[in-house]
Amino acid sequence: QFQMIKHEDLQLKESLGQGSFTRIFKGSMTDIRDGEKHVTDVLLKLLDESHNKCWESFFNAASLMSQISHKHLLLVYGISVHRYQNIVVQELVKCGALDLYLRKRGRSVPVSWKLDVAKQLACVLNFLEEKNIVHGNICAKNVLLAREGDSSGTSPFIKLSDPGIGLTVLGREVLLDRIPWVAPELVEAPESLELGCDKWSFGTTLWEIYNGGKAPLQGQDPQQKLQFYKNLEQLPPPEWPELADLIGRCMDYEPALRPSCRGIIRQLNSLIASDYVLLCDPQASTA
Ligand code: ATP
Ligand code: MG
Repeated sequence: QFQMIKHEDLQLKESLGQGSFTRIFKGSMTDIRDGEKHVTDVLLKLLDESHNKCWESFFNAASLMSQISHKHLLLVYGISVHRYQNIVVQELVKCGALDLYLRKRGRSVPVSWKLDVAKQLACVLNFLEEKNIVHGNICAKNVLLAREGDSSGTSPFIKLSDPGIGLTVLGREVLLDRIPWVAPELVEAPESLELGCDKWSFGTTLWEIYNGGKAPLQGQDPQQKLQFYKNLEQLPPPEWPELADLIGRCMDYEPALRPSCRGIIRQLNSLIASDYVLLCDPQASTA
């Protein structure tokens, strides 16, 4: 069910950093279509050789993505296995990860832009929910920006990336590090991944988006993060009450009480960016 890509058809270019047990590179892929040679820019995810025993979970994440298709889901071209190297070949998304983008642009990102991105993410989550597919690693880092959009009215356009290696395989250290994205019920039972877990992570991601890509609970060590969940704490709510309500409903410690994706979309649609401007930034509305 996988497109196997020959190692010699891939070219590794500059590094984009590291992920969970992975190294990420820009690259290109050569293929022959209709007798013609095509070169496509791609993103290459290499599994760390020291974690080669995780190959099955690593490729499962890519497999999940190649079985379903949605405009806001990242395209996976295939995999390549060469000697000890396991590689996933996927679409290179132009503007990179959402968290980095928001941190770089800071306060210049309008609230209406953030709302657009949140609605697109809710839309793809709704698609997954209808198919009964759990993603398992929703966070701003895994939301990629295919199009920035501009002030003349073109919207941003996002692609949700693959979930990567599963939590049960990654181990406890990574799991604790993923607080407060990982749903609290997974801390003691990481194998019990369910649709409700993505709702919690969506709430955390919304919080990140509205806080300019700032990492929640930044600087806290794993034991402090664990304590945050043990105390049933919540992230500092945004000053926008309707948004704070939505984040709070997604990040409910009782999974059964979290909203459906349809409910999330309905609530997002009722949030009007101009209300926020009037509430939090009265100067902006007169500009
Ligand atoms: P995880 O499973 O934890 O998500 P990962 O292996 O997917 O780990 P990331 O940390 O998500 O690695 O990605 C590392 C960086 O690579 C991101 O911050 C982003 O800048 C870049 N990146 C990842 N995927 C793409 C892509 N498809 N297009 C462009 N840039 C990407
Ligand atoms: Mg990722």
